[in-house]
Amino acid sequence: DDAAELEALQHADMARLLPVPGVESDKYRRGVVGIAAGSARYPGAAVLAVAGALRGGAGAVRYVGPAGDAVLARYPETLVSDQGPKRAGRVQAWVVGPGAGDDAGTVAEVLAAEVPVLIDADGLRLADAGTVRRRTAPTLMTPHAGEAAALLGVAREEVEEARLASARELAGRYGATVLLKGATTVVAGAEGGPVRVNSTGTSWLATAGSGDVLSGLAGSLLAAGLSTRDAGSAGAYLHGLAGRFAADGAPVGAHEVAEAVGRAWRDVR
Ligand code: AMP
Ligand code: MG
Repeated sequence: DDAAELEALQHADMARLLPVPGVESDKYRRGVVGIAAGSARYPGAAVLAVAGALRGGAGAVRYVGPAGDAVLARYPETLVSDQGPKRAGRVQAWVVGPGAGDDAGTVAEVLAAEVPVLIDADGLRLADAGTVRRRTAPTLMTPHAGEAAALLGVAREEVEEARLASARELAGRYGATVLLKGATTVVAGAEGGPVRVNSTGTSWLATAGSGDVLSGLAGSLLAAGLSTRDAGSAGAYLHGLAGRFAADGAPVGAHEVAEAVGRAWRDVR
């Protein structure tokens, strides 16, 4: 019976988990999150991942990739570099993959970093399973059902019919925490244990770029020091709530979901 192996975050858990800077804090103690995302074809994915990251609680957001101008035009506080992840400077957690196209080299460079890494979207396809398994720092993977199906080599319907088992299977194969997105999002750890479920979202979140915002948001929480399990589930919780606030019963764009994360944050604190 799966019910015994499920747990859900509550408002009270969120108040405990979300990082709030103290008087002694500075941007490095709050954490620097690196975003390796976007491509000439999909510069917007980089902008949306940065938008999520800026609302996640890290002290600084560093961006590496070909969409630096688009990112800076929208978010001038971003630290932009075109030297690749290895030469980007201090980063306490990486997000790799949204809109990344076929840049396997960048994915490999990020996976070699000895800090937590969140892999999403194109990054999931480009990440070598053995390389992920051998990482010494934690890894968080954030597929939707289609991406999970491709990684497992099964049809999308099979994942939809067995979401818990699919997330657990992927987590075991990759030695990573797996956050399987959907109407209900499930977070499974590499070592088994209870699966976290999140249902704060709304079907208005089924819109292009929505997942890119989540990747930045959860990555920022990783950089702030949360575990992959807590960063993933707290990120999904805030993202879902932000979606509700932003949509309020009408269609929204993903950038509006990012802009509503502050409201979600204040609601749970
Ligand atoms: P992506 O497919 O990568 O853009 O991610 C989509 C995001 O929207 C994920 O956070 C999903 O959990 C969320 N989402 C998609 N469809 C729904 C739905 N029907 N209800 C609630 N959340 C959804
Ligand atoms: Mg996506």
